[in-house]
Amino acid sequence: MRTKQFKSESKKLMDMMINSIYTHKEIFLREIISNSSDAIDKLYFLSLTDQKVGIKPDEFKIEIKIDKENRTLTVADNGIGMTEEELDKNLGTIAKSGSFDFKAQNEKDDKIDIIGQFGVGFYSTFMVSDKVTVESKAYGSDSAFRWTSSGADGYTVEPCEKEGVGTTVIMHLKPDTDDEKYSEFLDQYKIQNLIKKHSDYIRHPIVMEFTSKKPVEGKENEYEDVTELKTLNSMVPIWKKAKKDVKDEDYNNFYKEKFSDYQDPLAVIYSSTEGTATYKALMFIPKHPPFDYYTKEYEKGLQLYSKGVLIMDKCADLLPDYFSFVKGLVDSEDLSLNISREMLQHDGQLKLIEKTLEKKIKSELEKMLKNEREKYEEFFGAFGTGLKFGVYNDFGMHADTLKDLLIFKSSKEKKFVTLKEYVEAMPEGQDAIFYACGETEERIDLLPQCDAVKDKGYDIIYLTENVDEFCLMMLREYNGKKFMNVCDENLNLDSEEEKKELETENNEAKEMFEVMKETLGGKVNAVRFTNKLKNHPVCLTSEGGISLEMEKTLNAMPGAEEKIKAQLVLEINASHKIADKLKRLYKDDPETLKKYAKLLYGEACLIGGKPIDNPGEHSELVCELMV
Ligand code: ADP
Repeated sequence: MRTKQFKSESKKLMDMMINSIYTHKEIFLREIISNSSDAIDKLYFLSLTDQKVGIKPDEFKIEIKIDKENRTLTVADNGIGMTEEELDKNLGTIAKSGSFDFKAQNEKDDKIDIIGQFGVGFYSTFMVSDKVTVESKAYGSDSAFRWTSSGADGYTVEPCEKEGVGTTVIMHLKPDTDDEKYSEFLDQYKIQNLIKKHSDYIRHPIVMEFTSKKPVEGKENEYEDVTELKTLNSMVPIWKKAKKDVKDEDYNNFYKEKFSDYQDPLAVIYSSTEGTATYKALMFIPKHPPFDYYTKEYEKGLQLYSKGVLIMDKCADLLPDYFSFVKGLVDSEDLSLNISREMLQHDGQLKLIEKTLEKKIKSELEKMLKNEREKYEEFFGAFGTGLKFGVYNDFGMHADTLKDLLIFKSSKEKKFVTLKEYVEAMPEGQDAIFYACGETEERIDLLPQCDAVKDKGYDIIYLTENVDEFCLMMLREYNGKKFMNVCDENLNLDSEEEKKELETENNEAKEMFEVMKETLGGKVNAVRFTNKLKNHPVCLTSEGGISLEMEKTLNAMPGAEEKIKAQLVLEINASHKIADKLKRLYKDDPETLKKYAKLLYGEACLIGGKPIDNPGEHSELVCELMV
């Protein structure tokens, strides 16, 4: 018989398991039972439509056997089984699809984490066994096969005798050491507890021959060993239990096992509805986005069950895109068991469920925002970007649904505020919601344009993500208050008198500004005096819809062929000494005025975080001034 090699990544994983110092080795049992349960689900599903299966619904079971003499623990199921090829393919390679970027993880060599993170499936048996045998007969096949491996050296597959359809996994436990007592997995009470702890909700009975001392009838103080077949799990799926009967820990464990996460969920959402749509839903908000969350590979969706039977693993239609971070399942009485994917899409019942789930998720998030602010901020840190895209996408169709779920850091208290809180705290006279864009809060605070707004006592919302400004543009206003970029040319903070005064000054300097504008050769739309700068001499503002930040973002997008340009205005502080200097130069030394125009534009670019077009020229001009 030829010994086959594991695929290289499986071999690595196997090595890792064999030498594992992971402290929760007991999870191997949960993994094996979960595989058995899946295999039974598959055959059960077939049996609903195919008479030939020949197993009655109540005959499906998972059987555990303890053999102390031979140091083996056996888990047998009468599920769908595996063919010779499937044994080879499924147990010779890592099957964990998607959730497992093995190479990337391995480079970090964070062995413990890998086990906790992904559960690692079948291979986890090698944490406790030095030899594993799998005997399996696939449904529809006459012959059975035995897969055997004693570790990373490889495995063999050979024909064997096996009566019924299904799979039997025989684990030969490692010898005990000073630190590890593997023989505890030969203790019936230990096994019973493990099943209760990790696998209680499994839908099929997990049975084990249980031996206990019972009083002998009619004789006092005499006991005898009685062996009986016991069902170890309650078999009620966790989502069918009333919320009050389930411990948080149970929900958390269920989530981690089912959705391959190593952390507890941030929130559990349970919903049970009867009436127009009858279903039970158990949903989770993860603490952190899955590694592929912000890529095209990420698939949203909830598991869909019909009367307790899994009919679809990721039903995308149940979740709107902006809530795609939600994990979980829905079990409905209303759906037909053999409904096809195509038909599901048009199923009115499913649409109804989607609508109610969406409302439920939203209201749970609102509750969290109101009552558990810190937790909500953690949530928003992980998934807020998705909500902002939700506002922006589909031409703002969902902006109304989502606007009250947004939070932004703001300048006054450097804390997160909702738009509602911002508007409610606006002092009299403030008629817009001010925001400023930049890479970080610190950089935004350095923007000269912020000063005038802060001086008025107005709060400023910090926008540090690319999507932020687009999101606000889509909203346009909140409760009648327009959004206003502090770098907008049209800030409108001055009194009527101040405005008039400025206008006169600007009119008087009109020709000088024309010269400066021409010198800058189309880089700015205009040059003018402003009142909004406190100590700074200059700044760049934008006219029209596109701000400096938007210009950066739009041009950085793939496929942005024609450069998009913000319409810039070079604004000069009317009460800064530089204003008088410019006026004098215009009269006495027009050539130097031109140089100053270039210098000031360069300064404004630097402050605004925009690259200088010609750094060499800028530096030369500065040096000329210095000498
Ligand atoms: P996962 O369960 O996450 O796919 P595993 O490594 O645990 O990964 O299992 C690999 C594959 O082997 C499973 O996807 C399944 O196809 C097959 N398998 C494992 N155990 C059984 C079983 N008891 N009956 C039938 N197939 C099984």
